[in-house]
Amino acid sequence: MRRDAASNPPEAGATDIFQRRNKIDNCIDWPRFNANFSGVRIVTSIAAMQCQARQWQRAGKRIGFVPTMGYLHAGHLSLVKRTWQAVGKSGVVVMSIYVNPTQFGPKEDFSKYPRDLRRDLKLCREAGVDVVFTPSDKEMYPQAGSSRRDDRTAQRAVPTNLSTYVVERKLSQSMEGVARPTHFRGVTTVVAKLFNMVLPDVAVFGAKDWQQATIIKRMVADLNFPVKIIVAPTLRERDGLAMSSRNKYLVGDLRRQATVLWRAIQMAQAAVKRSKVVPAAKLKSDLKKLIKTEPDARLDYVEFFGPDTLAPISKVTRGTHMALAGFVGKTRLIDNAQL
Ligand code: AMP
Repeated sequence: MRRDAASNPPEAGATDIFQRRNKIDNCIDWPRFNANFSGVRIVTSIAAMQCQARQWQRAGKRIGFVPTMGYLHAGHLSLVKRTWQAVGKSGVVVMSIYVNPTQFGPKEDFSKYPRDLRRDLKLCREAGVDVVFTPSDKEMYPQAGSSRRDDRTAQRAVPTNLSTYVVERKLSQSMEGVARPTHFRGVTTVVAKLFNMVLPDVAVFGAKDWQQATIIKRMVADLNFPVKIIVAPTLRERDGLAMSSRNKYLVGDLRRQATVLWRAIQMAQAAVKRSKVVPAAKLKSDLKKLIKTEPDARLDYVEFFGPDTLAPISKVTRGTHMALAGFVGKTRLIDNAQL
């Protein structure tokens, strides 16, 4: 039974704790942005997020969740739409906006990753998101020590030695896992933490990050998270480039050159349509040549694999999945598709 402040006052000495608990019971959170963004509630503390989620659960509402790193584009918003379909009109949708330091390598773009919370909040409000959960680094990784999110001059630090990680050991050994050795450990750890904060019934991930979505599904199955994972299709620009927050880096002719990833996928699709079975080695070599035709593009990897197992396939046929990664200028891009 809930304690009532008026009829059951706290004992001397317990006042602070009682007041804090009472605040959390009411899901009160730091209202810094709320005045300007009526219609979408901003939650920054883990306690308030969990409190809100439990309230929704008690009210029988289904909780849908879209984890993101912000700098939103239409691809992210398509996940919100898919989440609404999954939870229905009586449900609620939470989007997290958190640039997770533990999934970036020491030489990667964590400090420079594009951020624009104001614009993101506006887009969330328009998309009908109920709560934007945007915790600070200190809130998420208090044990690591961290930079202050609001101090623009502070160097953002990547926590490197947490005591506890969630590690998927098989599906994360290939492709992005080779190119970015600590990336998936950071992803599974933060997604597990976010699931424990948002308590979702449904979480929607993009097919754009196919290996990530496959690993999350595996983690959820192996650790018995009570959440349904939905993988929604990749949204593309008109010229085929997969939407990505990092596309912001593609200035001048780099933007045009970046379409070579999509052209590579189309080339593989055409080859499979034509020949039914194509040796993966031959296809890889043809795709490498195509990528080389763009002066600032450099292929990192291209792989053919089973869509669920991610196991490499040597004879490519219809239904085989393809993923590739490459640099266009200094920007690393990834893409994938079923052939
Ligand atoms: P990010 O903010 O890049 O971490 O992405 C957050 C979520 O959006 C992930 O589940 C991504 O797979 C998904 N996503 C990113 N780009 C796209 C896209 N072009 N189409 C659909 N989903 C996407």
